[in-house]
Amino acid sequence: MARYTGPRCKLCRREGTKLFLKGQRCYSSKCALERRQYPPGMHGQGGRRRRPSSYGIQLREKQRIKRSYGLLEKQFYNFYKKAEGSKGITGHNLLSMLESRLDNVLFRSGFVGTRSQARLAVRHGHVSLNGRKVDIPSQRVKAGDVMAVREKSKLIPQIKFRLEKVQPQTVSWLQVDSNKLSIAVDHPPRREEISLPFNEQLVVELYSR
Ligand code: SF4
Repeated sequence: MARYTGPRCKLCRREGTKLFLKGQRCYSSKCALERRQYPPGMHGQGGRRRRPSSYGIQLREKQRIKRSYGLLEKQFYNFYKKAEGSKGITGHNLLSMLESRLDNVLFRSGFVGTRSQARLAVRHGHVSLNGRKVDIPSQRVKAGDVMAVREKSKLIPQIKFRLEKVQPQTVSWLQVDSNKLSIAVDHPPRREEISLPFNEQLVVELYSR
């Protein structure tokens, strides 16, 4: 599956907000956005600022959400189409589906520092879902599913090293067990449980144009 491989801090600078794509570095003074609070490129610093159009505002919000989850346009749009075709509010469905991705669940648990690390861990087969090996990061979990770091993988030195530094997170819709390194899904995430400052309605308006 294709993924963005360019400089990640550039994405934050383009969006003018922290997308937290680099783990601990994002919370330190090394964060690129702390040091250069202007968009990347030759017109970034001192460039003329125009008032954004409504289209511009919708586009930036869509980019912000898409880039936070590390998706490319087509992957994101496919999620949108599925959300639109499901029962309920499209924007809420969209965020709930994005949150339910295997890589995101692993990231939310705190077992890895970033979504890209989570994606790699799933891709390399270090994770199981209901006892079976999985390697598709975009696969979605449902209520009752149990994700875990595979026994074999726990023995790999780099993973062992990483797991020693695990900081399990409290997520209302997940039960994270830092001893067994497993994550049980209690229920699908509801909008009010996704405390991200996104305005998903702008994405719906953008794609409905
Ligand atoms: Fe964004 Fe993190 Fe880079 Fe800061 S360090 S610009 S938050 S990816």
